[in-house]
Amino acid sequence: QPFISARHVTAGYENRRDHTRLIALRDVSLDVARGEFLAIVGPSGCGKTTFINMIAGFVQPLEGEITVDGEPVTGPGMDRAMVFQDYALLPWRTVQRNIRFAMENRRTKPSKAEQDERIRKAIELVGLTGFEKAYPHELSGGMRQRVGIARALVTEPSVLLMDEPFGAVDAMTREAMQAELEKIIAQTGQTVVFITHSIDEAVTLGDRVVVVSSRPGRIKEIVPVDLPRPRM
Ligand code: ADP
Ligand code: ADP
Repeated sequence: QPFISARHVTAGYENRRDHTRLIALRDVSLDVARGEFLAIVGPSGCGKTTFINMIAGFVQPLEGEITVDGEPVTGPGMDRAMVFQDYALLPWRTVQRNIRFAMENRRTKPSKAEQDERIRKAIELVGLTGFEKAYPHELSGGMRQRVGIARALVTEPSVLLMDEPFGAVDAMTREAMQAELEKIIAQTGQTVVFITHSIDEAVTLGDRVVVVSSRPGRIKEIVPVDLPRPRM
Protein backbone atom coordinates (compact mmCIF):
# COMPACT_ATOMS: atom_id res chain seq x y z
CA GLN A 1 0.00 0.00 0.00
CA PRO A 2 1.45 3.40 -0.96
CA PHE A 3 2.01 5.82 1.90
CA ILE A 4 0.84 8.87 -0.03
CA SER A 5 -1.61 8.32 -2.83
CA ALA A 6 -3.16 10.82 -5.23
CA ARG A 7 -6.02 9.42 -7.30
CA HIS A 8 -7.29 11.32 -10.34
CA VAL A 9 -6.74 14.62 -8.62
CA THR A 10 -7.82 17.82 -10.31
CA ALA A 11 -7.23 21.14 -8.61
CA GLY A 12 -7.97 24.70 -9.54
CA TYR A 13 -8.72 28.18 -8.38
CA GLU A 14 -11.85 30.19 -8.88
CA ASN A 15 -11.67 33.79 -10.00
CA ARG A 16 -14.36 35.39 -7.83
CA ARG A 17 -14.70 38.35 -10.17
CA ASP A 18 -15.67 36.62 -13.41
CA HIS A 19 -16.37 33.16 -11.95
CA THR A 20 -13.92 31.49 -14.29
CA ARG A 21 -11.89 28.61 -13.03
CA LEU A 22 -8.21 28.06 -13.61
CA ILE A 23 -7.22 24.41 -13.60
CA ALA A 24 -3.80 24.09 -11.98
CA LEU A 25 -3.53 20.29 -12.12
CA ARG A 26 -5.62 17.88 -14.14
CA ASP A 27 -6.25 14.22 -13.39
CA VAL A 28 -3.01 13.51 -11.57
CA SER A 29 -2.46 10.07 -10.07
CA LEU A 30 0.72 9.48 -8.13
CA ASP A 31 1.92 7.20 -5.35
CA VAL A 32 4.72 7.78 -2.89
CA ALA A 33 6.13 4.87 -0.91
CA ARG A 34 6.91 5.10 2.80
CA GLY A 35 10.42 6.44 3.25
CA GLU A 36 10.69 7.54 -0.35
CA PHE A 37 12.24 10.86 -1.37
CA LEU A 38 10.15 12.04 -4.30
CA ALA A 39 11.39 15.05 -6.23
CA ILE A 40 8.88 16.94 -8.35
CA VAL A 41 10.31 19.11 -11.06
CA GLY A 42 8.59 21.33 -13.58
CA PRO A 43 8.38 24.87 -14.90
CA SER A 44 6.94 27.73 -12.90
CA GLY A 45 3.14 27.64 -12.78
CA CYS A 46 2.74 23.96 -13.64
CA GLY A 47 0.98 23.21 -10.34
CA LYS A 48 3.78 21.90 -8.11
CA THR A 49 2.90 24.10 -5.13
CA THR A 50 -0.78 23.31 -5.56
CA PHE A 51 -0.02 19.59 -5.44
CA ILE A 52 2.11 19.76 -2.31
CA ASN A 53 -0.46 22.07 -0.68
CA MET A 54 -3.08 19.38 -1.25
CA ILE A 55 -0.93 16.79 0.52
CA ALA A 56 -0.48 19.31 3.35
CA GLY A 57 -4.25 19.82 3.46
CA PHE A 58 -4.10 23.56 2.69
CA VAL A 59 -5.82 23.14 -0.68
CA GLN A 60 -8.73 20.79 -1.41
CA PRO A 61 -8.92 19.00 -4.76
CA LEU A 62 -11.88 19.75 -7.03
CA GLU A 63 -11.95 16.10 -8.02
CA GLY A 64 -10.18 12.98 -6.88
CA GLU A 65 -8.67 12.14 -3.54
CA ILE A 66 -5.39 12.24 -1.69
CA THR A 67 -4.72 9.78 1.11
CA VAL A 68 -1.83 9.63 3.56
CA ASP A 69 -1.34 6.31 5.32
CA GLY A 70 -4.74 5.22 4.04
CA GLU A 71 -6.59 8.24 5.49
CA PRO A 72 -8.15 10.87 3.20
CA VAL A 73 -6.53 14.28 3.67
CA THR A 74 -9.23 16.69 4.81
CA GLY A 75 -7.02 19.41 6.30
CA PRO A 76 -3.63 20.10 7.86
CA GLY A 77 -2.41 17.42 10.25
CA MET A 78 0.51 16.92 12.55
CA ASP A 79 1.82 13.99 10.57
CA ARG A 80 2.74 16.41 7.75
CA ALA A 81 5.03 19.44 7.89
CA MET A 82 5.76 21.96 5.17
CA VAL A 83 8.89 23.91 4.40
CA PHE A 84 7.56 26.98 2.60
CA GLN A 85 9.19 28.58 -0.40
CA ASP A 86 8.97 32.02 1.23
CA TYR A 87 10.00 30.69 4.69
CA ALA A 88 6.83 32.06 6.38
CA LEU A 89 8.71 32.97 9.57
CA LEU A 90 7.16 35.22 12.18
CA PRO A 91 9.29 38.39 12.03
CA TRP A 92 8.71 39.37 15.65
CA ARG A 93 9.90 36.05 17.00
CA THR A 94 13.45 34.80 17.42
CA VAL A 95 14.75 31.73 15.59
CA GLN A 96 14.14 29.63 18.69
CA ARG A 97 10.59 30.90 19.20
CA ASN A 98 9.71 30.50 15.52
CA ILE A 99 10.71 26.85 15.79
CA ARG A 100 8.94 26.32 19.12
CA PHE A 101 5.77 27.82 17.65
CA ALA A 102 5.41 24.78 15.36
CA MET A 103 5.12 22.53 18.41
CA GLU A 104 2.98 24.87 20.52
CA ASN A 105 0.29 24.91 17.87
CA ARG A 106 -0.31 21.20 18.21
CA ARG A 107 -3.09 19.47 20.06
CA THR A 108 -0.70 17.11 21.79
CA LYS A 109 2.40 19.16 22.42
CA PRO A 110 5.66 17.80 23.79
CA SER A 111 6.75 18.81 27.30
CA LYS A 112 8.85 21.98 27.63
CA ALA A 113 11.99 19.89 28.20
CA GLU A 114 11.26 17.73 25.16
CA GLN A 115 10.59 20.86 23.08
CA ASP A 116 13.90 22.39 24.19
CA GLU A 117 15.78 19.24 23.23
CA ARG A 118 14.13 18.99 19.81
CA ILE A 119 14.83 22.68 19.13
CA ARG A 120 18.48 22.28 20.09
CA LYS A 121 18.89 19.24 17.84
CA ALA A 122 17.09 20.80 14.87
CA ILE A 123 19.10 24.02 15.12
CA GLU A 124 22.28 22.00 15.23
CA LEU A 125 21.23 19.91 12.23
CA VAL A 126 20.65 22.99 10.07
CA GLY A 127 23.86 24.62 11.31
CA LEU A 128 22.33 27.58 13.13
CA THR A 129 23.73 26.97 16.60
CA GLY A 130 24.53 30.39 18.07
CA PHE A 131 21.66 32.07 16.21
CA GLU A 132 18.88 30.92 18.57
CA LYS A 133 18.12 34.45 19.74
CA ALA A 134 18.45 36.14 16.35
CA TYR A 135 15.42 37.59 14.58
CA PRO A 136 14.66 36.64 10.96
CA HIS A 137 15.69 40.09 9.64
CA GLU A 138 19.15 39.56 11.13
CA LEU A 139 19.70 36.45 9.05
CA SER A 140 20.60 35.89 5.41
CA GLY A 141 17.96 34.41 3.08
CA GLY A 142 19.62 31.03 3.18
CA MET A 143 19.71 31.06 6.97
CA ARG A 144 16.01 31.91 7.12
CA GLN A 145 15.30 28.95 4.88
CA ARG A 146 17.23 26.77 7.28
CA VAL A 147 15.05 28.03 10.15
CA GLY A 148 12.03 26.97 8.09
CA ILE A 149 13.55 23.51 7.70
CA ALA A 150 14.30 23.25 11.44
CA ARG A 151 10.74 24.30 12.22
CA ALA A 152 9.38 21.50 10.06
CA LEU A 153 11.75 18.94 11.58
CA VAL A 154 10.87 19.54 15.26
CA THR A 155 7.34 18.31 14.78
CA GLU A 156 8.84 14.97 13.70
CA PRO A 157 6.37 14.56 10.84
CA SER A 158 6.16 11.31 8.93
CA VAL A 159 5.81 13.39 5.76
CA LEU A 160 8.12 16.29 5.04
CA LEU A 161 6.83 18.57 2.30
CA MET A 162 9.39 20.95 0.85
CA ASP A 163 8.56 23.69 -1.64
CA GLU A 164 11.80 24.85 -3.24
CA PRO A 165 13.47 24.95 0.16
CA PHE A 166 16.82 26.03 -1.28
CA GLY A 167 15.45 28.69 -3.61
CA ALA A 168 17.11 31.58 -1.77
CA VAL A 169 20.41 29.83 -1.21
CA ASP A 170 23.52 30.44 -3.28
CA ALA A 171 25.00 27.47 -5.16
CA MET A 172 27.74 26.64 -2.67
CA THR A 173 25.55 26.79 0.41
CA ARG A 174 22.93 24.82 -1.51
CA GLU A 175 25.30 21.90 -1.97
CA ALA A 176 26.12 21.89 1.73
CA MET A 177 22.42 22.05 2.61
CA GLN A 178 21.54 19.26 0.20
CA ALA A 179 24.12 17.10 1.95
CA GLU A 180 22.69 18.12 5.36
CA LEU A 181 19.19 17.26 4.24
CA GLU A 182 20.24 13.85 2.93
CA LYS A 183 21.84 13.13 6.31
CA ILE A 184 18.72 14.22 8.20
CA ILE A 185 16.42 12.13 6.02
CA ALA A 186 18.70 9.10 6.33
CA GLN A 187 18.46 9.50 10.12
CA THR A 188 14.71 9.99 10.36
CA GLY A 189 13.51 7.79 7.48
CA GLN A 190 10.87 10.42 6.68
CA THR A 191 8.86 10.37 3.49
CA VAL A 192 9.75 13.49 1.53
CA VAL A 193 8.00 15.30 -1.30
CA PHE A 194 10.40 17.90 -2.60
CA ILE A 195 9.61 20.56 -5.20
CA THR A 196 12.25 22.16 -7.31
CA HIS A 197 12.58 23.73 -10.73
CA SER A 198 16.09 22.35 -11.02
CA ILE A 199 16.44 18.97 -12.76
CA ASP A 200 19.93 18.77 -11.28
CA GLU A 201 18.63 19.16 -7.74
CA ALA A 202 15.79 16.70 -8.38
CA VAL A 203 18.17 14.04 -9.69
CA THR A 204 20.70 14.67 -6.90
CA LEU A 205 18.16 14.33 -4.08
CA GLY A 206 15.32 12.20 -5.36
CA ASP A 207 14.87 8.45 -5.13
CA ARG A 208 12.41 9.13 -7.91
CA VAL A 209 11.82 12.19 -10.04
CA VAL A 210 8.45 13.23 -11.36
CA VAL A 211 8.36 15.74 -14.17
CA VAL A 212 5.23 17.87 -14.47
CA SER A 213 4.42 19.34 -17.83
CA SER A 214 3.53 23.01 -18.10
CA ARG A 215 0.23 22.46 -19.88
CA PRO A 216 -2.27 21.76 -18.36
CA GLY A 217 -0.40 20.74 -15.24
CA ARG A 218 -0.24 17.12 -16.18
CA ILE A 219 2.43 14.65 -15.27
CA LYS A 220 4.32 14.07 -18.44
CA GLU A 221 6.95 11.63 -17.49
CA ILE A 222 8.13 9.65 -14.53
CA VAL A 223 11.82 9.06 -14.49
CA PRO A 224 13.03 6.45 -12.03
CA VAL A 225 16.43 7.43 -10.74
CA ASP A 226 18.54 4.51 -9.75
CA LEU A 227 21.09 6.11 -7.49
CA PRO A 228 22.26 4.51 -4.26
CA ARG A 229 21.20 6.56 -1.29
CA PRO A 230 22.21 6.28 2.34
CA ARG A 231 19.40 4.67 4.35
CA MET A 232 19.25 3.58 7.93
P1 ADP B 1 4.12 26.01 -9.38
O1 ADP B 1 4.35 25.71 -7.92
O2 ADP B 1 4.46 24.84 -10.26
O3 ADP B 1 4.77 27.27 -9.82
P2 ADP B 1 1.39 26.65 -8.61
O4 ADP B 1 0.76 25.47 -8.04
O5 ADP B 1 1.89 27.72 -7.70
O6 ADP B 1 2.56 26.19 -9.60
O7 ADP B 1 0.39 27.34 -9.63
C1 ADP B 1 -0.35 26.61 -10.61
C2 ADP B 1 -1.35 27.56 -11.28
O8 ADP B 1 -2.33 27.94 -10.32
C3 ADP B 1 -0.71 28.85 -11.76
O9 ADP B 1 -1.34 29.24 -12.95
C4 ADP B 1 -1.01 29.84 -10.65
O10 ADP B 1 -1.09 31.15 -11.14
C5 ADP B 1 -2.34 29.34 -10.14
N1 ADP B 1 -2.51 29.59 -8.70
C6 ADP B 1 -1.71 29.12 -7.72
N2 ADP B 1 -2.16 29.51 -6.51
C7 ADP B 1 -3.27 30.26 -6.74
C8 ADP B 1 -4.20 30.94 -5.91
N3 ADP B 1 -4.09 30.95 -4.57
N4 ADP B 1 -5.23 31.59 -6.50
C9 ADP B 1 -5.36 31.58 -7.84
N5 ADP B 1 -4.53 30.95 -8.69
C10 ADP B 1 -3.50 30.30 -8.15
P1 ADP C 1 23.29 32.17 2.53
O1 ADP C 1 22.34 33.30 2.24
O2 ADP C 1 23.44 31.26 1.39
O3 ADP C 1 23.04 31.45 3.80
P2 ADP C 1 25.38 34.14 3.06
O4 ADP C 1 26.50 34.37 2.08
O5 ADP C 1 24.38 35.18 3.26
O6 ADP C 1 24.77 32.75 2.67
O7 ADP C 1 26.01 33.75 4.47
C1 ADP C 1 27.03 32.80 4.57
C2 ADP C 1 27.33 32.59 6.05
O8 ADP C 1 27.65 33.86 6.66
C3 ADP C 1 26.16 32.07 6.83
O9 ADP C 1 26.02 30.67 6.82
C4 ADP C 1 26.46 32.61 8.22
O10 ADP C 1 27.36 31.75 8.91
C5 ADP C 1 27.09 33.93 7.94
N1 ADP C 1 26.09 35.02 8.01
C6 ADP C 1 25.30 35.48 7.02
N2 ADP C 1 24.50 36.47 7.41
C7 ADP C 1 24.80 36.68 8.70
C8 ADP C 1 24.33 37.57 9.70
N3 ADP C 1 23.36 38.47 9.46
N4 ADP C 1 24.85 37.49 10.93
C9 ADP C 1 25.82 36.60 11.19
N5 ADP C 1 26.31 35.75 10.31
C10 ADP C 1 25.81 35.75 9.08
